[in-house]
Amino acid sequence: MTKLATQLIQGTNGTDDANTGAVVPPLYFSTAFRHPGLGASTGYDYARLETPTRALLEQQLTLLEGGVAAWAVSSGMAAIDLVFSTFTQTGDHFIASDDLYGGSFRYFDERQAKYRVDYDTWDGRDIDHLLLSLRPQTKLIWLESPSNPTMKVIDLEAVADAVHAVRPDILIAVDNTFLTPIYQRPLTLGADLVVHSATKYLGGHNDILAGAVVARTDTLAAALSAQLTTTGQTLDPFSAWLLLRSLKTLKVRMAAHTTNAQFLAQRLADLPGVAKLLYAGVGGMISFYLAPGYSVDTFLRGLAVCSFAESLGSVETMVTVPDVQTHHDMPEAQRRALGITPQLIRVSVGLEDEDDLLADLTQAIANAQPKED
Ligand SMILES: *Cc1c(COP(=O)(O)O)cnc(C)c1O
Repeated sequence: MTKLATQLIQGTNGTDDANTGAVVPPLYFSTAFRHPGLGASTGYDYARLETPTRALLEQQLTLLEGGVAAWAVSSGMAAIDLVFSTFTQTGDHFIASDDLYGGSFRYFDERQAKYRVDYDTWDGRDIDHLLLSLRPQTKLIWLESPSNPTMKVIDLEAVADAVHAVRPDILIAVDNTFLTPIYQRPLTLGADLVVHSATKYLGGHNDILAGAVVARTDTLAAALSAQLTTTGQTLDPFSAWLLLRSLKTLKVRMAAHTTNAQFLAQRLADLPGVAKLLYAGVGGMISFYLAPGYSVDTFLRGLAVCSFAESLGSVETMVTVPDVQTHHDMPEAQRRALGITPQLIRVSVGLEDEDDLLADLTQAIANAQPKED
């Protein structure tokens, strides 16, 4: 079998049944598929269940994460909902790492309030403490690494080993949006489920809203399939086709995101306006604290190349203020305890020229310094 980069580029080519010789796969919009006869199927019956275009994407997602099956769904939140609605019910308990996507916390709080699926948080570091927090009702452990936005790295393999040694029934689910399978493949480290907001790096161009779930075993896959057929939050054919196209460049994009992020992480850390910089060492996400007295608003208004916007993972560099944007639904005390302060800036480093990015951020930071009276 050819290697991953080749599979991503060539793996779905030549699949045009019409024998036109088209190099890239066709896009099928049909929602209904004719049956050859009673009890017979082409493999496609109705679009909520599966479409040819989505099937190709799911084949690529499965391959990327090293699972047995994948589902392309309508957003990252739909992917999270697919996992929780499939595997948890009233009275269950789960544990989530404490520093993760704010929308996930909003979802967890809703599940707790409406369905009494309780959860505890964990700092991502002390595994003994995690084991002590397990309850007989614990169904699932939800992890995001590196954490969002403070870039704490969790040892996924150590967590999976320790938990499965005492409780093989507990599912380890990882939101792998930040690193992507190019840098981290949780299923190969012992996790059971991987989730993506494919809106971010997998899509990579700020033009597709999508999510993905990948399963490690056939039993998990069967449960997810049945739930998705019931609830129907599937990805539409055109987004699926665009995402297939994006995946072809995932490896080169991630390498370039890392190169630019490493460059900026090094240079920005030395600026007088930067109190502290956080970076996991790979991937395109960095965070930093503007020094005390520096105006966040002036900094944001001064950006010319980077966009002040609420997303990540695209070729365009995006700057976010987690305290008032992505993480605002988290209680203030919890935000402060995690280090999410009003001065914390998160940068999704894009693929523009590295010197232009550095110059833009440097001038915007200098411009934001406290004014002398
Ligand atoms: C954006 C994001 C989500 C939610 O995904 P949507 O595609 O916006 O629904 C989930 N997890 C992480 C880490 C994200 O960044």
